[in-house]
Amino acid sequence: MKAIQLYEAGHLQLADVPVPEINEHELLIKVRAASICGTDIRMWKNGAAAASKDHPLILGHEFAGDIVKAGKAVRGYQAGERVSVAPNVGCGHCDACVSGNTHLCQEMQAFGVTMDGGFAEYVRVPEEAVVQGNVLKLGDDISYEAAALVEPLSCVYNGQMLLGIRPGDDVLIIGLGPIGIMHIMMAELLGAKKIYVSDLSEERTAQACRMFPQVKPIRGNVPEGLAAYGLSGVDICIIAAPAPDAQAASLEYMNMNGKLLFFGGLPDHKKIVPINTNLIHYRQLTIQGCTRQSISAYRLCARLVNDGRIPLDLIMSDSYPIEDYERAYQNAASAKGLKHVFRFDQAGSEEQ
Ligand SMILES: [Zn+2]
Ligand SMILES: [Zn+2]
Repeated sequence: MKAIQLYEAGHLQLADVPVPEINEHELLIKVRAASICGTDIRMWKNGAAAASKDHPLILGHEFAGDIVKAGKAVRGYQAGERVSVAPNVGCGHCDACVSGNTHLCQEMQAFGVTMDGGFAEYVRVPEEAVVQGNVLKLGDDISYEAAALVEPLSCVYNGQMLLGIRPGDDVLIIGLGPIGIMHIMMAELLGAKKIYVSDLSEERTAQACRMFPQVKPIRGNVPEGLAAYGLSGVDICIIAAPAPDAQAASLEYMNMNGKLLFFGGLPDHKKIVPINTNLIHYRQLTIQGCTRQSISAYRLCARLVNDGRIPLDLIMSDSYPIEDYERAYQNAASAKGLKHVFRFDQAGSEEQ
């Protein structure tokens, strides 16, 4: 089968590798759609602990497809079912795992990060992932492409649940890549009063306004932009860009009791950010972090998409055959379009 493998930093290759064998407790999935994430770009540029010259790693943690083979001992799943896979697999027995937070497990494994992922024609789902419920049967109204995008959407959901957006909140979203756009969709669903958006790229700001005519663009200086809308601050600010300056400046935009979400990591050499902690104190601010998603958050988000509550298909801007991976990666890395998705032959599913 064809697969995109990471060797070392900067070395990605389309390889022909054997279709994985499964044992009686495992599933084999034929991938139909898999999307490229910031993590995939970072792993390509920086390399990954689980990938080396001798042991290349198949990337891809956002994917959906069909079960083509179920091991004899597997219960609850069978060949022919349309599924997507929550990528984070816990040990199953630590405090985090038993509380449903397998994504916070110290021994967490993840498809496409520590074990072979979805940028391949087939994926083996190990027993732990089968029994922990990482494999989600899809509803009839969600496409494979949108199902692949449920992974980042559920990261966004996780962040906003931790933030606690309330009906009537004024929300500012900084950074309008695919994640920023998903934050708009989710904040809208959760009852934000008005959503203000800002991005250094004029094109991305304009694109967000075309997709969501109700959002209020802020171009240039943020406090001045807010003042022009009659606001002295916002209740919620989400930084969906790997920008230390934006994180530091965001404290100034907040109302009393405001809450900020620092979504996504910063590059290692920029991770120490000086912030005005007096603003946290005197305005009683909360700064929230978030990472990954629980399986239940993943499932809930797939239902929201299936039920038409989140128009996730809007975010898919480009699709590619896997052979075209270099162009797909280049486009994703240069912030062209929104989500870049590999699509595999859609016709028929061969039974094995
Ligand atoms: Zn992702
Ligand atoms: Zn665990």
